[in-house]
Amino acid sequence: MAYETVIGLEVHVQLATQSKAFCRDSAAFGGAPNTHTGVISLAHPGTLPRLNKTAVQYAVRLGLSLGCRINRRSTFDRKNYFYADLPKGFQTTQDANPICIGGSLQVKRGDALAPIRLHHIHLEEDAGKSLHDQDPHDSLIDLNRAGVPLLEIVTEPDFRSAEEVSQFMESMRRLVRWIGVSDGNMEEGSLRCDVNISIRPEGSETFGTRCEIKNMNSMRFARRAIAYEVERQIKVLESGGRIEQETRGFDPQSGETYSLREKENAHDYRYFPEPDLPPVLLSEDYIAQVAHALPELPEAAQARMQSMYELNVQDAQTLCNERSAAEYFFLLAENAQKAGVSGKLCANFIINQLLPWSAGKHLQLSESPVRVENWTAMLTLIEKGAISASACYQRLLPALLDNPETPPQTLAEQLNLLQDQDSDALSSAVAAVLAKYPEKVAEYKKGKKGLIGFFMGEVMKASKGKANPQEATKMIEAHITPTPNP
Ligand code: ADP
Ligand code: MG
Repeated sequence: MAYETVIGLEVHVQLATQSKAFCRDSAAFGGAPNTHTGVISLAHPGTLPRLNKTAVQYAVRLGLSLGCRINRRSTFDRKNYFYADLPKGFQTTQDANPICIGGSLQVKRGDALAPIRLHHIHLEEDAGKSLHDQDPHDSLIDLNRAGVPLLEIVTEPDFRSAEEVSQFMESMRRLVRWIGVSDGNMEEGSLRCDVNISIRPEGSETFGTRCEIKNMNSMRFARRAIAYEVERQIKVLESGGRIEQETRGFDPQSGETYSLREKENAHDYRYFPEPDLPPVLLSEDYIAQVAHALPELPEAAQARMQSMYELNVQDAQTLCNERSAAEYFFLLAENAQKAGVSGKLCANFIINQLLPWSAGKHLQLSESPVRVENWTAMLTLIEKGAISASACYQRLLPALLDNPETPPQTLAEQLNLLQDQDSDALSSAVAAVLAKYPEKVAEYKKGKKGLIGFFMGEVMKASKGKANPQEATKMIEAHITPTPNP
């Protein structure tokens, strides 16, 4: 029988606040174990939590970016469970009244886009870390992470494949980085998800029983875990068994999921309203202010690159991986457009030259020594055919980076890179080349069009690389009129 996979996610986003959710301890990643641990993180009796304003602001930023409804009044609850890395014996979270409701994020499904609906987003705190591999006998506890603010994004069971999960997590990573609420670093655990999986016979409308795979912090592992789990569930059903609702782990070594525990139900946690924190009340004004401060979002930026600057999907997507690259593109493209330089050329330049350069130097694009005006002047030389793209990027670009204030035209002259614009000289070079290779000309005439590259190479050699390639191509074609194949 054919089965359909159904997946819902619980995504955890660690917020990039300076301090923790309910106290002033540092929320920075790492640090010597148990150094970001004041009395609140350690759950000393008699201490009282105080909510981090920035965490609330980040929650609203993300909620608005995902089209959620922002709850004007949200509240905290205690989720009680015992674990050594949870000093209070409960997690402060939002259960009954989370801060954001609804919203969605799209993924590609076939040729169309499918919305993954969000159930809600709530604010909560992270637990500490149990280190099981540092000591031969004991597990060690590091409470630096205890109390770091998290957003949990709970989706509806709208995913139908591991590929969609992967895309969703990629988009989520890009979004949280773009709006500055998290570094989205999966290796450091700033972005991780629990994957709920069930299967059902294709065409069926009712959901199967789900299993939850905990704490996936690598998309490669998540894809493997999902593939394994789907196969496991199919085997169980095919052999007449029943899926038990349970929580499972994934072992990257064996590539298998394994049972951790039976699924706990909400009532096992004895949720109750947190008495030490007042409700979070947000005014319309406050929400409007947060909305106003949001940048243009990645999808919108991508669409604008395609419509305003005629970029293809792939280039626009690449530039929109990082907000800094997208913003730099708009800065350059707007300036360059006035000089008649195409957006496509700006995109090529940024993607193939500037991004690798900045990555190598560990710099932001905006930190390059060359001003946008001078990039435009450089690209203008390519656009009007005064210099070939390869000569520009191989010779002129390094010179310009060393002399960022010098006009590119001057540098190109000094380096003797300017192409021959003299069409008489070019014409005689073309004629000479064609005269030298009559057999090749005959083949070209019979339809072997690929020979144009050969002729170009010869013309380039003859002109010492200064011939304008477009002009030369036109001229070669004009000199030979090919007869089409019968
Ligand atoms: P609980 O309250 O028990 O944690 P929820 O209904 O809140 O359960 O769902 C938790 C997660 O499980 C959500 O991400 C949801 O999309 C997902 N989920 C619910 N039912 C299924 C199902 N049948 N198959 C796959 N995922 C599911
Ligand atoms: Mg849940």
